Amino acid sequence: MTRSIACFGFAVLLVLPAASQTSSEATLPYSPSLDVTSMDKTIDSCVDFYTYSCGGWQKQNPIPADQTSWSVYAKLYQDNLRFLRGILEEAAAAKTGRNKVTQEIGDFYGACMNETAVNQRGVGAIQSQLDAIAAMKSIRDIAPLTAHVTLPFGQTLLFGAGSAQDPDNSEQVIADLDQGGLGLPDRDYYTKEDAKSKEIRARYLQHAQAVFQLLGDTPEAAKKNADTVMRMETALAKASWTRVEQRNPYNLKNKMKMSDLEGLAPNFDWTTYYREARYPNFEIVNVESPKFYKQVSDSLTTEPLENWKTYFRFHVADSYSAFLSKPFADENFNFYRAYLRGAKAQQPRWRQCVQHTDFNLSEALGQAYVAKVFSPELKAAALDMVDRIEEAMRERIGQLDWMSPQTKQQAVVKLEAIRNKIGYPDRWRDYSSIEISPTDFAGNMERTGAFELHRQINKIGLPVDHGEWMISAATVDAYYNAQMNDINFPAGVLQPPIYDRKMDDAPNYGDTGGTIGHELTHGFDDEGSQFDARGNLKDWWTKEDREKFDARTKCVDDQYSSYVAVDDVHVNGKLTLGENVADLGGEILAFMAWQSKTKDMNPQPVDGLTPEQRFFVGFAQWDCANERPDDLRVRAATDPHSPAKYRINGVLVNMPEFAKAFGCKAGQPMVRPAAQVCKVW
Ligand SMILES: [Zn+2]
Repeated sequence: MTRSIACFGFAVLLVLPAASQTSSEATLPYSPSLDVTSMDKTIDSCVDFYTYSCGGWQKQNPIPADQTSWSVYAKLYQDNLRFLRGILEEAAAAKTGRNKVTQEIGDFYGACMNETAVNQRGVGAIQSQLDAIAAMKSIRDIAPLTAHVTLPFGQTLLFGAGSAQDPDNSEQVIADLDQGGLGLPDRDYYTKEDAKSKEIRARYLQHAQAVFQLLGDTPEAAKKNADTVMRMETALAKASWTRVEQRNPYNLKNKMKMSDLEGLAPNFDWTTYYREARYPNFEIVNVESPKFYKQVSDSLTTEPLENWKTYFRFHVADSYSAFLSKPFADENFNFYRAYLRGAKAQQPRWRQCVQHTDFNLSEALGQAYVAKVFSPELKAAALDMVDRIEEAMRERIGQLDWMSPQTKQQAVVKLEAIRNKIGYPDRWRDYSSIEISPTDFAGNMERTGAFELHRQINKIGLPVDHGEWMISAATVDAYYNAQMNDINFPAGVLQPPIYDRKMDDAPNYGDTGGTIGHELTHGFDDEGSQFDARGNLKDWWTKEDREKFDARTKCVDDQYSSYVAVDDVHVNGKLTLGENVADLGGEILAFMAWQSKTKDMNPQPVDGLTPEQRFFVGFAQWDCANERPDDLRVRAATDPHSPAKYRINGVLVNMPEFAKAFGCKAGQPMVRPAAQVCKVW
């Protein structure tokens, strides 16, 4: 149930930042967490606070050609990548004296950077997978094929398979099956009938045809094959949950015995699949999307073997394209980054290679990163802030006038059970069993992907590791995991201009304090609130309190549904509900904690801004961003976060503390009428 993970900002880890500079850095550059030159004071703060706080930044920071959007978070991530590049180039160049970790990250990065070798190898890098597909003799051979062929990043063919925490007993790990098998970013792309959706499907067909031609098919055969892929994916898409349906954890809880799974999807040979994929013995599998698996089984009777071979050839080639020779990588970029998201140029090779290393060997590279940027003092300061935000939440729960004492008591039990993970894991993952070649990039991607898949599979039957992290130490993001009931703040997000120890509390509480509050509030948003203190899917609310809570979240749903994301596409208030509730709750908690911490300090105005004003500008400036229309369109369909401007203005119109700080009056755009103000937590 990976969907019970709620990240703070970056939904897409592998399509990040750009750069005008190309050099690597010995230290991270500094910029302050509150920067008055990033503001645009010609804008009325009571009309559009986001542009008032970020207008200068937006003018000074156009979207680089190779990026699909640009933001404070993206810039910091780019700084991190440049910093990591220095570590990796040294590790790749060293001829002697490398320890195991240095050899792993150096060879992985070096193989990625060796573009000549990658180009010479060409499609040969995936020949063994293509041969395995061609060698299939019957539909029964599909199960062992999907067990053996691993895609990059631990993904599996046709569906998502692995392990997950048992929704009823979060201390246990069980086998898990998720929907999957699509090439477009979401199932809605296959079903919507508006002109833009039809255009995207037509362009996707051209993309699939181009991939088949790169695999050696004639244009006629390639076109026919693209049609086959589209038809097969459309059947799977129609049987898939929507993203909003996936936000209901009860939809995803369908635990069954193997015999039930065989009854649900009888045409797939599950026994062979699980044996060949080397699963440990297990009794129970959770099937997150039963309808999808029924469709997989039905398609196995309606589509002949030749069509399945076509479908698998495409998915193997498409998944590995970015790591193959230039024609494949170009086609991948042209469709997924340029056409779908609006990027104008490819990222420099080094940056892609640093990201791949950070993603695939995250806890090897992370060791080198945190040693240089994350001190014990920084960790202690961040933990102090977490403690103060948690104290504010305890106080806030006590103050809620709509919640009964019984539910309040349970909420505090859950709050006190949250594990706070700051900086990096206590124990680093060991990658020494993976063969990392200095010359075979696609092979390294496959082997690290297989390692990750088997790491997940081998958790089945074992107790949960509460020390595990799901993102790398250098990642500029944070998350709450409902089944772990933990918040995770990697070292990468605790750096300036996000968290700035050179600055005073006002901007730091507005920014990082709000993010900590955001992650805590995820434990109590419309989705997270359905899990108890142990991370089990178990109702701890009284019926009346849940009804009152639902009415309050509906206020937020209605508010954000009224916002336009791009052109005629509205924000999906139900898809973004959890994030919007967390944004609002988080900032309220941060304000309380900041006021409590500074009540005897008598903070003074700086740069013509009162302490309260600096708190709110600090908040807004975490999110300064420029966004391409194409990217906004993809994200409106797929990203649970609202567009940047609404993550600021949408929160502040619900905070009378903001209106007071800036003297905003009833009737101005940044002030909602009292009767319309949304308050959840
Ligand atoms: Zn979030």
